[in-house]
Amino acid sequence: MQIETDMSLKESLQEYFGFDGFKGKQEEIITSLLSGNDTFVIMPTGGGKSLCYQLPAVLSEGTAIIISPLIALMKNQVDLVRSYSSNNDIAHFLNSTLNRQTIKKVKADITSGKTKMLYVAPETLKKEENIEFFKGIKISFIAVDEAHCISEWGHDFRPEYRQIKNMLDTINERIPIIALTATATPKVQSDIKKNLGLNEPNIFISSFNRPNLYYEIRPKRTRDFAIKQIVKYIKENGKKSGIVYCLNRKSTEDIAKVLNINGIKAGAYHAGMESAERTDVQDRFLMEDYQVIVATIAFGMGIDKPDVRFVIHFDIPKSIENYYQETGRGGRDGLEGKCIAFYSYKDIEKLEKFMRDKPLSEREMGAQLLAETAAYAEASVCRRRFLLHYFGEEYPQDNCGSCDNCLKPKERIEGKDFIQAALKVVAGVNENNPIPYLVDMLLGKHTTEIQNYRHDNLDVFGIGKEKDDHFWNSILRQCLLNHFVYKDIEQYGLIKLTDEGRKFIDKPKSVMVSLNHDFESDTSDIEMENTGGKSVLDPQLFEMLSSIREKVAKEHKLPPYVVFSENSLEEMATMYPTTMEELIKISGVSKGKADRFGEKFIEVIDQYVEENEIEKPSEFVMKQVANKSVHKIYIIQNIDKKLPLEEIAKMRGMKFIELIDEIETIVSSGTRLNLDYYLNDIIEEDLQDEVFDYFRGTVAFDKDKAFNELKEEGLSAEEIQLLHVKFLSEVAN
Ligand code: ADP
Ligand code: MG
Repeated sequence: MQIETDMSLKESLQEYFGFDGFKGKQEEIITSLLSGNDTFVIMPTGGGKSLCYQLPAVLSEGTAIIISPLIALMKNQVDLVRSYSSNNDIAHFLNSTLNRQTIKKVKADITSGKTKMLYVAPETLKKEENIEFFKGIKISFIAVDEAHCISEWGHDFRPEYRQIKNMLDTINERIPIIALTATATPKVQSDIKKNLGLNEPNIFISSFNRPNLYYEIRPKRTRDFAIKQIVKYIKENGKKSGIVYCLNRKSTEDIAKVLNINGIKAGAYHAGMESAERTDVQDRFLMEDYQVIVATIAFGMGIDKPDVRFVIHFDIPKSIENYYQETGRGGRDGLEGKCIAFYSYKDIEKLEKFMRDKPLSEREMGAQLLAETAAYAEASVCRRRFLLHYFGEEYPQDNCGSCDNCLKPKERIEGKDFIQAALKVVAGVNENNPIPYLVDMLLGKHTTEIQNYRHDNLDVFGIGKEKDDHFWNSILRQCLLNHFVYKDIEQYGLIKLTDEGRKFIDKPKSVMVSLNHDFESDTSDIEMENTGGKSVLDPQLFEMLSSIREKVAKEHKLPPYVVFSENSLEEMATMYPTTMEELIKISGVSKGKADRFGEKFIEVIDQYVEENEIEKPSEFVMKQVANKSVHKIYIIQNIDKKLPLEEIAKMRGMKFIELIDEIETIVSSGTRLNLDYYLNDIIEEDLQDEVFDYFRGTVAFDKDKAFNELKEEGLSAEEIQLLHVKFLSEVAN
């Protein structure tokens, strides 16, 4: 390659980009490329990959062609490069979004040698007219960014990437190539090398370790359980920025809604949104108008917010690559970054089902990636070590001090004999089978496959019978991490012995191992379960509150449920409100109700808390999304405007009875509604009073019973229910 400067690299860096020094291995990488070598760069996101081709491009004669998968990001990148230079012609992009005239201008700039960098999508490279054009110009080198897109084993496979090599060969076989990616397992690395035909490339792998990230997996017992924990986590962390990842659009919207209801400003983000809307959400996140983004994986590409303090996976991702990429968006500034993922094996099964209609090879690949993800989640070994091992890197320390497994290690057992047994099975089946097969062998299962190979005749068949599959999966996982075996990536994950493993069979030594987590049957306490929810209702206090309610009801000559509902009492016996402010926070308790009936309740609770030295649960109360909340405000507003109820129902597309139910819910949760404009027209006031007397004399309201007992008055069930709503609104709120 011809270089057009006498300056040292460092001087050029300062001159063209204004940086004082190189980051990581940038200098070596740039030197390699400038010497005309094929170069392969594996560097985590944020490591500074772009500079590895941008600086050489500026320094070389001709134009560098940069292949990048995302048209949407191309413009940003070009703008960024231009911002360093005094002339805009230094960088251009060529893709399907440009009009003819612009294309002409771009090509003219390239031909005249003004343009140092041309960003293209692989599709652009395919077009005949472009290929002809490229044949006639001086190309300094080719950069393939996001090179993992070449491999079906990567997390973002793009078939067009496979054709890059062909097209490059048509243009000119001898141009140096630099390939760059932020994630590449050993398998993906070898795919990239082969597919791009890299010629004895210099390979630069930076460490994937992100020491400031903390990793944790929590069981996802139910959807609600996970959402509750997420709300609690965010609330406890003040105003810190974060991302919550979900796998589908609906979840992003649902969870964003719950967060907002709980006072956390959050926006949903997914691929189904208009692009302007997406940009708006992104901007609001960057400007901290949104504290949290709830997103599908569509979010994050090209987002560079340095102070994302937590990344929560509501759903476990489809692969460890995805997980690593997404968690990688936390703590880019090197400070705190908490990565918490919720895991349930059921989610893995769901994801497998989604792949049902894909071609077989894709399905098998997807299943393997998922199996790795499940193994990661269930592992009780250091998560950092597991992740790095996955990307082909060794993590030497025993305890990273910053993952759940290291902070709370599981009890370890002596694994010597078990490991030896597992290794014997690996050898027994001629190192020709994957993990599930080995587990079946250990357990002595007569599967068709095992019978076909006649492996049930082997001595080692069933030598692990006394343990279960969970146990043997743990042991085999640790065999991998301890390098007694390895997975043959070229051969669909068959398990092979290493030299060390072979030695271990004859001369085993002590290895302490811990078993995987068993999240499915795990019912251990997670701290938050002690707050909120019915599970920790204080039955003694509940009894006391019930009897006060009875007394208060008698004094006011009202049915008890009108004073406070059962639900409100339960919540009081859980949250222990001891002030008026706290009492009002209890659901179903309006300001009016609290003023009218609350005092006695607070007194009793206060005394009870004191006498029993009760520690009140922290502030946290999660508010649920009320199903019909969309209707609520509308209904309240229109009743205030005295619109006929029939009309309101019609405009909302509700049945009349649904509307009444909704009005009842609104009133029961403490909002006062004045229905006189409607009721006084259809029911005489004397009759209303009579019905109110009837209500006062009942213990609970039962619509059908009331209808029967008030038959003689000639009222419909709906009218009775509406009167009851009026009654509640007047006497209780
Ligand atoms: P990647 O593509 O590896 O994710 P980028 O190329 O986008 O990373 O670079 C990440 C950030 O690091 C950018 O803001 C870039 O300007 C900055 N950067 C790159 N190289 C240097 C350097 N030598 N000194 C200072 N900042 C750098
Ligand atoms: Mg990049």
